[in-house]
Amino acid sequence: MVRIQCSQCQHPISNEVTTCPQCGHPNEQQPLPEVKRKVSWMLFLGIVFLPYIFVWFILRKGYKLTTQAIALGWLAFMLYTLTIEFYEIAYPQIVPEQQVISYEQTTQLNDATSHHY
Ligand SMILES: [Zn+2]
Repeated sequence: MVRIQCSQCQHPISNEVTTCPQCGHPNEQQPLPEVKRKVSWMLFLGIVFLPYIFVWFILRKGYKLTTQAIALGWLAFMLYTLTIEFYEIAYPQIVPEQQVISYEQTTQLNDATSHHY
């Protein structure tokens, strides 16, 4: 780490930072981050399960356009699914009561039929 001066405000900054912490001026000695990035497994899983959060990571950094398009498509799909789920919760379909048999009811039925000695 080498101390250099910010070309904008002369504030002493590290040569490893990308922008001056004092005035936000980009550090000319520090090359911009590599443009081509690969999606890590952590990011991939994040996008699969929480696209609403992790898609923005992909859009911000220099990922491939196709990757960004796929991520955005997935986000749209997830939002669509969420909307449908929301409507199902808001307007639940009436399920006939006879079709809903709980586990307890099933075991009671089994007890009633199998315990005749
Ligand atoms: Zn500065």
